[in-house]
Order: sequence, then C-alpha cells, then structure tokens
Amino acid sequence: MSDILKVNLGDRSYPILFGEDLTPQVHAIAAELAFGGRKVAVVTDRNVARIHSSTLKVLFGETPTLAVAAGEGSKSVAELERVLDFLAACGLDRSGVIFAVGGGVVGDLAGFAAACYLRGIDYYQVPTTLLAMVDSSVGGKTAVNLKAGKNLAGAFHQPHGVFIATGFLGTLPAREFAAGASEVIKTALLGDAELFARIEKTPLTPGDGRLAGTVRRCCEIKAGIVEADERERAAAGGRALLNLGHTFGHAIEQVTGYAQYLHGEAVAVGLCAAARLSRRLGMLPDAEVARVEAAVASHALPVRLREALPLPRLMAAMVRDKKAHAGSLRLVVLKAIGSAAVLGPVAPDAVESVWREVGCS
Ligand code: ADP
Ligand code: ZN
Repeated sequence: MSDILKVNLGDRSYPILFGEDLTPQVHAIAAELAFGGRKVAVVTDRNVARIHSSTLKVLFGETPTLAVAAGEGSKSVAELERVLDFLAACGLDRSGVIFAVGGGVVGDLAGFAAACYLRGIDYYQVPTTLLAMVDSSVGGKTAVNLKAGKNLAGAFHQPHGVFIATGFLGTLPAREFAAGASEVIKTALLGDAELFARIEKTPLTPGDGRLAGTVRRCCEIKAGIVEADERERAAAGGRALLNLGHTFGHAIEQVTGYAQYLHGEAVAVGLCAAARLSRRLGMLPDAEVARVEAAVASHALPVRLREALPLPRLMAAMVRDKKAHAGSLRLVVLKAIGSAAVLGPVAPDAVESVWREVGCS
C-alpha cells in the first residue's frame, strides 16, 4: 500500500508517494513513459548501484543508467557536464525523463541536469537516504557546488513526482542515518512540537515502524513551507525557516573543508547553536535548550564542535553565507520548540558568544 501527499504548486504540482517498497509504482511509471515513446534515463551513484543493483534492475530493466562516484565531489560542474553528455548520448529529447535514484548528491545533480538539459525536462526523485527523503528530494532546489562554495550554481526545478520507499534505509550506514535524523530534528523544531516530543522520547532508528510516518510528517511540513514560498522570496519566514541551524552549520562545513562533518552533523551543532542564540536573545528558556541538545545527542549527533575552530573564520564564513544580506547576519531562531522565525540583523557579539559556548577557540 502506498500513501500520497500532494505538493500544490499550480501547474508544477506533484505527488509524493510513501511506502516501505514502491517497486511496483516506480516500475509502472517508468514503463508507462517508455511505452508512450518517452526516453528514460537513470542517474544514481556507485554505492546505490552496487547495493541495490537487483532493485534497480526490477525498476528500470535495461534503461540507460549513469552511476556517478558517491559523495559530495560529484556535485560539480564537471560531473554535471558528464550527466548532460550522457543524456544527449542516450538521445533524450524534450520529452525525455530522468529518474534520480540516490541521496541528496544524486538528487541535486540529476535535478539540475534536468533543469538545464534542453532548457528543462521532467525528472522523478527516488531518494535512498534519510536526508534526501525528509529534505532535499522535496521542494525543487537543485544545484552543484562551485570552488567559491556549496550550491552556488543551481535552479528551482520541481520534480514530477517523488517516491519515498523507506525500505532503502535498511542498508544506509548508521552515520548517514544519523545525519538525516538531524534534518528531522530541524523540521520538528521549526514546525511541530509534538513530533519533537515523540523523537525526543524515542529516538529514530532505521527499523522503527514509526519511521515512515515521521518521514511523511517532515515532507508535509516542508511541502507546506514550499507551497507558501516556492522561490524563497518571502519577506518574513517562508522557505528561509528551513535554514534553521544551517548558517552555523554551513560555516562549520566550510571552515573544516567539508571533510570532517557530514552536512547533518554540522547542522546538528548548528541547531544547538541556534537554540543557544535564541536563549541569549531572551526567546527560549534554558530547559528548552537542554531538550534540543538531548534530542541531538540521543541521535548520535554532536552538540558541540569536535575540536575548537577559529572564531574569526567561522564568523567570516557566516557573513559570506548566501543567506546573509549585505554582510549583516540574518539567522533563524526559535521562539519555542516547534516555532521558528528569521531574525536580523543579529549582533555579532551574541553570535560570537554562542560559538564559544559550542566549543570555539
Ligand atoms: P545525502 O543524501 O546525505 O545528501 P549522499 O547523496 O552523499 O548524501 O549519500 C550519502 C552516502 O550514502 C553516499 O555515500 C551514498 O552512496 C550512500 N547511500 C545512499 N543511499 C544509500 C542506501 N540506501 N544504502 C547505503 N548507502 C547509501
Ligand atoms: Zn540541510
């Protein structure tokens, strides 16, 4: 049985399907497209291609498949060119369709390729990591990285459908699962106090029967925010709320050269920092900060920096973050657990104090 959530964006609306196993549904769409004369191509990464080779075979048969190297390094302009050349070599015309099967890296890369190939073709997301299921596969943000920073070249291009088959998570390494849980905690913190209470009481685990419902709830919250502010233009709140913990997190990732922290791990420290900042600004009581930290820690995620990092570099990275406006700090803060707001400009002193609290030198 599958369950469907619709993302309402006018003529760009699309369904998200949820289920433990969506093999029949994905196969049916891929076969129907091919039967209708539309060329289909699959983009995945080498880990997923290896671990889930038999599933991919059932889903797509002999459909041309490009497996990129696993990891963030594939979110590059060079790899984008490879994907575009692959689509051209497969003879996709404007009716062609891509299936992106993998984590956030594959979704962002293949999604951006779909946005620019022949000025835009359809694509479907089949996320295989928790992070991609609860966050990156929904909402239509696609991008690759530039030398100057992450996600600096991209497009808004909504998928035609998203297939969230939680059965894929059975093979996900524990560290990657935890990194995805960080985005679940983020989503609960900004939009659902009850969800937060549930995961604080019983931390998420891959085998948990409630996981599918939690993933669905995160997609519901994200879809609601995206529907209200598809292109992140809202003056207050809107899509920017999804950056809770991310301005801190991106700074950690950047200063550590994207090598020491997974995105979700950096965001975990970022969430704790955002909670501490909210307390410093008089918005959140001590006890709530403790709850945020306990939830983060119980998902095997860091609440503080693992090693001290230089404060000036972190502050410089925060100001450069593309979410900053004209050099001033705009940050997402918590008004309560389950409710967030964008605040700015925030005094650098307060932010520096928070960095020290989370272990900065
Ligand atoms: P994210 O989804 O967190 O943005 P990636 O796309 O880089 O990040 O995926 C994280 C890692 O997990 C990659 O090494 C990828 O190959 C691997 N991976 C993705 N899905 C699965 C899965 N279902 N089982 C095992 N490994 C997976
Ligand atoms: Zn994120």
